[in-house]
Order: sequence, then structure tokens, then C-alpha cells
Amino acid sequence: MKNSDLKKLRERDTWCWECGSESDLVPHHRANRGFGGSKALDTLQNIILVCARFNGEMESDAAVANWARDNGMKLSKFMSPSQPVFDNWQKKWFYLDERGNKHETEPPSFLI
Ligand SMILES: [Zn+2]
Repeated sequence: MKNSDLKKLRERDTWCWECGSESDLVPHHRANRGFGGSKALDTLQNIILVCARFNGEMESDAAVANWARDNGMKLSKFMSPSQPVFDNWQKKWFYLDERGNKHETEPPSFLI
């Protein structure tokens, strides 16, 4: 990810999307890059900042991973990162645009 994008990411995500923590934030890919690590998913729409604890739990705990899927934080490879993501701290859904802004929106259709 470009330094300018990283700066925008840190300006947009000043707290963890899961717990609201403002420290130990790490970039998390909503749709996983998988093997080969395609840079195509290194976008401001696909990357969110979460705390290191939650990031680790999504990898190690299947229940947490499922919860993250229900909240748009983890996406299957068939889902577009234009799907909204839930700010569990503010209890609001946001659409992330490709320029590094977030917009409050309705819950996504996959939950209905
Ligand atoms: Zn957190």
C-alpha cells in the first residue's frame, strides 16, 4: 500500500472497528489476498484498521471469524469490498469509498 494511502487509512480509521481501541492498530484485509498476495486488494476499500488482539482472534478463533463475516469485516472472495462494514464501537454501518472516506449507510442486503 502506498504511503499516501496509509496516511488516509490512519486518518479514516482512528479506532479499531471492533472494540474502539486507539492503540496497537494494524491493517486488516477484509477480502484476503490469499496465495501470491495480489496487490489488487491493497485498497482503501478493502483494508481496515483493527487492534492487534482482534486481528489475531479473527485468524485463530472460528467464532470470531464468523462474527467478522456477519459484520463485513471479513469478506469471501466472491464479495466486493463495496459491501458495508459495521463499526461495532459506534454501532453504525459504513460504506468505504476508494478514496479513503467512509459514509454511514444501511445494513447490507446479505443480512436481510
Ligand atoms: Zn479492537
